[in-house]
Amino acid sequence: MSVPQPLLKKRKMSEGIKYLPLVIPLPLPEDQLKEVVEKSKDWALMHGAAMRSKTQFSEDSLQFAPFVLIPSAFPRREFMKSIEIQLILNELMHKVAHDREFLTSSLKETIKVDEFTRNLFQIYETVHDEGVTQRASLGLLRSDYMVHSSSTDKIKQIELNTIASSFGGIATHITLFNRYILQELGHSDKLKNLPDNNALEGLCSGMIEAWKLYDDPQAVILFIIEDVTFNICDQRFHEFKIREMNPQARVIRRTLTDMAERASLGKNKELIIDGCIVAMIYFRAGYEPGHYHSQKEWDARLLMERSRAIKSPSIQYHLAGTKKVQQTLARPGALEQFLCEPSKVERIKEVFTGLYSLDFDELGDQAVQLAIDNPERFVLKPQREGGGNNVYGLEVRDAVKKMKNSQERTAWILMERIHPPLSRGYIVRPGVSNVPELVDMVSELGIFGVVIGDSETITYNKQVGHMLRTKVSTANEGGVAAGLGALDSPYLID
Ligand code: ADP
Ligand code: MG
Repeated sequence: MSVPQPLLKKRKMSEGIKYLPLVIPLPLPEDQLKEVVEKSKDWALMHGAAMRSKTQFSEDSLQFAPFVLIPSAFPRREFMKSIEIQLILNELMHKVAHDREFLTSSLKETIKVDEFTRNLFQIYETVHDEGVTQRASLGLLRSDYMVHSSSTDKIKQIELNTIASSFGGIATHITLFNRYILQELGHSDKLKNLPDNNALEGLCSGMIEAWKLYDDPQAVILFIIEDVTFNICDQRFHEFKIREMNPQARVIRRTLTDMAERASLGKNKELIIDGCIVAMIYFRAGYEPGHYHSQKEWDARLLMERSRAIKSPSIQYHLAGTKKVQQTLARPGALEQFLCEPSKVERIKEVFTGLYSLDFDELGDQAVQLAIDNPERFVLKPQREGGGNNVYGLEVRDAVKKMKNSQERTAWILMERIHPPLSRGYIVRPGVSNVPELVDMVSELGIFGVVIGDSETITYNKQVGHMLRTKVSTANEGGVAAGLGALDSPYLID
């Protein structure tokens, strides 16, 4: 991999920092930059690479989503690996979700202190004790990675999302966006290094497949949404694509509160809301405590779980996606319980990084000490989703010291911090100059997978596309919806 000359100097100056090569010569002349940024904002708006403003919210207007102007370099070999292992990860998560013993023992300590996970777990126990009405599940997964900077630059998994795995809709358009910009800048020869991305179609195919499985052409697809939707384009892309791919399939959108107030179960446990029978439920909300305003939203979740509707995720899939389960899967011998072929186990192990439990046992005590001795080597994570919940840097030490003797520590996991190589580029955000500065950035790759099956079999298993999120290298987190990251595309390098 060749490192551009101006960057070589910098690398020598700051020991240990590694840069990926530039995709095109930078910086761009100011006139050219200004012109292409203006154009790119309009492209983004006109193609729905957009969100609703958090500061000036209006249902009647959109703002372009933050984006990276020139796609960021990503090692081709590692990208291909992430694609190839998605089918194994789909299989793994499906099997984990259907292993009551494993879920129960993994979450045993966590649910004592984490109320949110406990509520989910109670729903799980209730429906399993009653007998599950809908045996089929639809997994719409996204496995997230960062490249760990070393002599070999290998991807390491950040987490695996089983609920509300977002940005498949917009990411599909961002691939086209980055292609367009490269062309505008006279680099058509480089388009071959931007991999195709059909995430939207792939995710919607999964939903339509589940809808067909329910076998009632009148029944609808229900999106469970937040009270206020900022990431509207991503969600609507799914809705519109479903209609395009199957004119019979109708999508409706309801909040958990709507469900609490008006949903019911029919004679055969059909889920009914506002006169519609629901074939499948796609949860874009319900993954954080704030989405459940009162017990009645929890009751609604239980009602949906009891119903015949096919859920994405079903409650067991939701639990399988917790960070605690991710950590348990990294324990010696855990993967072997689910994957029979040693080659599959090896491939997954290769992308795991150090994950430690903080349970009250010998290993947990060792992890506590590790975190106190070397806080900057780790990220401390609670059982939360949606960004902004983790602890980084020296604060890891303070947090661990504080909860060292309290049961609370079992609700957290400790993860080795990944240090990705840097790239340089322009991040464009609403409300800032049309002549952005060149900044140091790091990227996180997400691979989408779709899996359908029941406790005995997997009937559908696909890898369907990708997304790349990029943030300034100094930021701890890079969620686009949370306002920190920017949408990007991987530019594959050898
Ligand atoms: P969430 O469910 O909130 O998305 P994540 O585990 O994905 O939780 O963490 C949020 C963000 O924190 C990630 O997108 C990434 O930017 C950063 N992050 C998480 N784990 C690590 C890690 N081990 N090393 C470096 N950065 C991390
Ligand atoms: Mg994440």
